[in-house]
Amino acid sequence: MSVPIALLTITTALSAMMLAIVWSLRRCGLPGVGEWCNANLTATGALVLFSLRGMIPDPFSIGVANAALAWSLALFYAGCVRFCGGVPPWRRLLAATAVTAAGVLVWRYAVDVFTTRVVIVSVFHAVLCALTGLTLLRRRPRGQSARFFITTACFALFFATGHAVRGTLSALQWLGNPYLQESMLLNTVFLTLGALVMPAMTMGAVLMIHDAIVRRLEAVANTDTLTGVLSRKAFEEGARRELARAAGGKPAPALLILDIDHFKSVNDTYGHAAGDAVLQAFAQLAAAQLRPGDLLGRLGGEEFMVLLPATGEAGASAVAERIRACVQRHAVTAAASDGGSHTVRYTVSGGTAGWHPGLTLAQLSARADAALYRAKVGGRNRIAAHSGPTPATQAPAQTAHALDA
Ligand code: GH3
Ligand code: MG
Ligand code: MG
Repeated sequence: MSVPIALLTITTALSAMMLAIVWSLRRCGLPGVGEWCNANLTATGALVLFSLRGMIPDPFSIGVANAALAWSLALFYAGCVRFCGGVPPWRRLLAATAVTAAGVLVWRYAVDVFTTRVVIVSVFHAVLCALTGLTLLRRRPRGQSARFFITTACFALFFATGHAVRGTLSALQWLGNPYLQESMLLNTVFLTLGALVMPAMTMGAVLMIHDAIVRRLEAVANTDTLTGVLSRKAFEEGARRELARAAGGKPAPALLILDIDHFKSVNDTYGHAAGDAVLQAFAQLAAAQLRPGDLLGRLGGEEFMVLLPATGEAGASAVAERIRACVQRHAVTAAASDGGSHTVRYTVSGGTAGWHPGLTLAQLSARADAALYRAKVGGRNRIAAHSGPTPATQAPAQTAHALDA
């Protein structure tokens, strides 16, 4: 078996394997994955045609095969553009692929010059790989996910360079025809590089898909689906981190528990959907009163918690009072089942507690909860601050909201 045919066989097998992997991820619904599947499918088909050279008519093993390989790279690039939130330039990609295929056919059937065909194909592949790399670099997200974009972009730019060098050497007539056993060392290097393009870039794409799926699951786990604020789990994690910072010497934070008053009667009077609308409106309104570093989480039902970093007890009471007053001023318009709408007025009560060295999150929340209990008993629609130490034996009703240690 000749070197080109051996490499083509390996590439075909690799492409088929990468196709299976990326195909298994197509149901994730991320944009671009469909294009990456089709890119590998098209590349596998093209490689089968290439490896049948001599066994099937040349228009297929040269013309169709080159057009399909070029189109597979166009599809991969389009997948990257879509994955990054853009719209692929389909017409330009189609036109460039058609020009490349036409060039290959002309330099096969009008003038049969192998090196010119290599130059044409190399230019197309170099440009598409460079565009892929630059798109991923330019549109990479901030944070940790960027490393997978950078990895894939590095692969793409490396292959762009390889194709550019191959095209240049061919243009200078320094690269012979590998099918005629010419320039075998250099040709083997370039054919090996070419063999790795689609599998390597697809591996990068798979890393990006996996990372996006993990981040999406994290976001779902950390977000309360109804209100969009932090889930209880994410709030507790964030609050514990903040307490640890305070224990390390940073300014002390304060905790605020807010509970909508007589929420059950909102549901009973206007319906559950109206209750949901009130919860959403309350979350928005409370978030609007907070600073960027403050944590707002839904504890469950109509109970919310706010952790205010570097905030004294007086400051926490002021924030709570601001939220309470704002709630009182703003009615919620909720859709009614008869097609009309309800105007729902509601109030909220709150309890605050400042952190002191040695207090765990559970103890801090028990203090804020005890204060909330006093606000409820005191008539609701009010804020109470924790005063004095937490009673050693608290009635269960007073600590209904308290977080686990
Ligand atoms: P209080 O003033 O003492 O806080 O009384 P309350 O009625 O607000 O408190 P209670 O605990 O008696 O009722 C809470 C209600 O919240 C009961 C429950 O059906 C309702 N609820 C819990 N989760 C949701 C939700 O996601 N959507 C809606 N619409 N209602 C919810
Ligand atoms: Mg309530
Ligand atoms: Mg409650």
